[in-house]
Amino acid sequence: MPTLQVLHNRKFAVANQCLVCGDGEETIEHVFQDCSFTRQILKDLGVSFTTDNNNQEWRMWLAVEFIKASIEKCKRIAVAFWVIWFN
Ligand SMILES: [Zn+2]
Repeated sequence: MPTLQVLHNRKFAVANQCLVCGDGEETIEHVFQDCSFTRQILKDLGVSFTTDNNNQEWRMWLAVEFIKASIEKCKRIAVAFWVIWFN
C-alpha cells in the first residue's frame, strides 16, 4: 500500500510522518492499528480487537482478527478501514 513510509523510501515523498496525527512514521501498521485517529474511529464504531493476537505482520494480524470475528464485525472493520484509508 502506498503509505508515506513506502513513498518516502521510493523517493516519491519528502516526509514519512503520519499527516493525520503527526505521531509516528506512516506505516501500514500505524495507519490501521496505532494511529490515534484510527483508534478513535474504531472506538466510536464499537470495534475492539483481541488481546492475544501478537502477529507482527499486519496482514496476518488482520487475518486472525477476521477469523475470530463475526460477519457483522468483519463488515464494520472493513468499512472502517476503507474510510480510514480513503481519508
Ligand atoms: Zn497517525
